[in-house]
Amino acid sequence: GATLGVMGGGQLGRMFVHAAQRMGYFTAVLDPDESSPAGRVSHHHVRADYLDEIGLATLCGHAQAITTEFENVPADALARLAQHRDVAPGAAAVAIAQDRALEKAHFVRCGVDCAPHAVVTNEEEVASVDDDLLPGILKTARLGYDGKGQARVRTRAELRAAWEQLGRADCVLEKLLPLAFECSVVVARGHDGAMVHLPVQRNLHREGILAVTEVHEGCIPDAQAHRAIAAARRIADGLDYVGVLCVEFFGLEDGSLVVNEMAPRPHNSGHWSMDAADVSQFELQVRTLAGLPLVQPRQHSAAVMLNLLGDLWFARGAAEATPDWAGVLALPGAHLHLYGKLSARKGRKMGHLTLTGPTPAAARETALAAARQLGIATF
Ligand code: ATP
Ligand code: MG
Ligand code: MG
Repeated sequence: GATLGVMGGGQLGRMFVHAAQRMGYFTAVLDPDESSPAGRVSHHHVRADYLDEIGLATLCGHAQAITTEFENVPADALARLAQHRDVAPGAAAVAIAQDRALEKAHFVRCGVDCAPHAVVTNEEEVASVDDDLLPGILKTARLGYDGKGQARVRTRAELRAAWEQLGRADCVLEKLLPLAFECSVVVARGHDGAMVHLPVQRNLHREGILAVTEVHEGCIPDAQAHRAIAAARRIADGLDYVGVLCVEFFGLEDGSLVVNEMAPRPHNSGHWSMDAADVSQFELQVRTLAGLPLVQPRQHSAAVMLNLLGDLWFARGAAEATPDWAGVLALPGAHLHLYGKLSARKGRKMGHLTLTGPTPAAARETALAAARQLGIATF
């Protein structure tokens, strides 16, 4: 059988591996970590750094087609792999998604509104940002995730201090917008340009980390949902993208919609699709990589996803203790996913729980019951 490869061995790689194996593929994971969640369930686990020549050659020896599970895989490594193997998404698209300045420029090029912003790379640019961008959020151009590498700033003095704090890194300053809600759209685009999408997902973040995703009729106003899907498709087309792409949006209080950022891979907010749609975002990733047909996924149940962060493992004191899964699994429509991480840390994504139901109200009610049982804040 054919072997599909993935750069990165985290939970996204693990769920890709599971989807690929279910469809009859062998898998190969490249990750330096001995005990990476994906490496431990893959047929092949290449333990090497992402730019290591021998590691990349070994991955090419195993796999006919290669994808990525995290956006910070060096674009250069993807470019090198692409000399020998099918690689999707391509290095050029990943390079844009890795850099907020390039990413914003791409959104503007596609005619999709984003927050007013300025690129800040030196003292002069820090000193000369437009007054209108304050209060704002200063974000490092590269390597930020889960709200890390960003700071809220109200004044020029705070901006200056935050930029120093972020190590004078290349940054983007964004105007702080009045959010009514956040949402995201997962699209999958094939080599031939054919595209399908998952329904619009409503996202709740806590302390910069995704906490809850809801996907059901009425979770987003129709007009904004349609605009989000159209914008995500334009963004993917503009990159000549191949693979799964997630685009995050802000719904504003005045009814408008602006794009926030994109991830060149399946996304935490799309995990519900494993349990409430007939084609999951990971199956879409397998299909795009293997050149299989793309069909529009059909959501068959209303869904609410709760992220299970490491904090839950410390809920009963200082020592790490497994939460009471039996309690939540007694709820009808509860689907538990644990990522096989060997130790819990606060803020670490350990797993997620999807609650499905025949109606939005039923799914929400079950999710609220699960949240109460686990000691997760309700929503
Ligand atoms: P991710 O883990 O999704 O990659 P990230 O670290 O790249 O997150 P962002 O998505 O840019 O960070 O921002 C994190 C959160 O901060 C957003 O989901 C939103 O709640 C809030 N936020 C970011 N930018 C703005 C803005 N311009 N105005 C208001 N809130 C914002
Ligand atoms: Mg991000
Ligand atoms: Mg984000």
